[in-house]
Amino acid sequence: MSLRGRLAPSPTGVLHLGNARSFLLAWLDVRARGGSLLLRIEDLDGPRVKRGADQAAIEDLRWLGLDWDEGPVYQRPRLPAYQAALQELAGRGLAYPCCCSRKDVERAASAPHAGDEGPVYPGTCRGRWPDAAAARDETGRDPCWRFAVPAAEELEVPDRFTGARRWRVAEELGDFVIWKRDGEPAYQLAVVVDDSAQGVTEVLRGDDLLPSAARQTLLYRALGAPPPSFAHLPLVVGPDGRRLAKRHGDTTLRSFREGGTDPAELCGWLAALSGLAPSGSRRLPADLVSGFRLDRVAAAPAVWSGPGR
Ligand code: GLU
Repeated sequence: MSLRGRLAPSPTGVLHLGNARSFLLAWLDVRARGGSLLLRIEDLDGPRVKRGADQAAIEDLRWLGLDWDEGPVYQRPRLPAYQAALQELAGRGLAYPCCCSRKDVERAASAPHAGDEGPVYPGTCRGRWPDAAAARDETGRDPCWRFAVPAAEELEVPDRFTGARRWRVAEELGDFVIWKRDGEPAYQLAVVVDDSAQGVTEVLRGDDLLPSAARQTLLYRALGAPPPSFAHLPLVVGPDGRRLAKRHGDTTLRSFREGGTDPAELCGWLAALSGLAPSGSRRLPADLVSGFRLDRVAAAPAVWSGPGR
């Protein structure tokens, strides 16, 4: 299988320096090894999707100097593929309808970034109903669907950056949502169906998604598809050690761009943050390809303290 990575922005807001660093490193990691890239717009995130955010993300990525060989591919037109995967899992008794609280279900809508991952589901609805209709009849609610994780299992998930991590599947992950109550696929299922169908072999993203890699590995296995190679990197944090956010000032690419920063300057900051170039360097993504190696990226969290520092 040829090496293939993806850039997968969610059109739920504008790109900031933290997203840009992950995209830059995902791009470099694939380009430096001669692989191809796909741009996938993850537009299944229901109410959080903002009109025009897909085009804005595309413009920002291009402005930064990133490119791709295929896409943008959107998720919404692929609903039948996710539906088929759900049916397959349900048909084999690997997924079950669940009528537990709405809050729990909504948390499955997006990639569960740090802080919004729900508690491990205790399995309350496992084995309660044969199908969604029975669940609906008894509770009057639309069920979500959960993947029934294999009990008493330890799963080892390799990672090219953090090294392998072992997960106690039942205690640490629990039965997770693969289909939401509102009738849409959850992130975990959609991403596995897509990466698999789209031939993605390399997934590089923030380490807030490490537990998702374990969940996704279980889904790959259940669907009989090989998992991609994962690499999870530390998120960009502010000087206070907290994940980059509004309190650290406006770090959206848009604001830098409109304020006259040029892409080589911004990409230079990202390279410096990652230990790939001395601070104050100007670099375009293409300038960083030769000699790029994932193990040269600094393992410590990338601290952003403002331009030029
Ligand atoms: N669209 C997802 C996000 O923004 C990507 C998650 C992934 O890389 O699997 O978090």
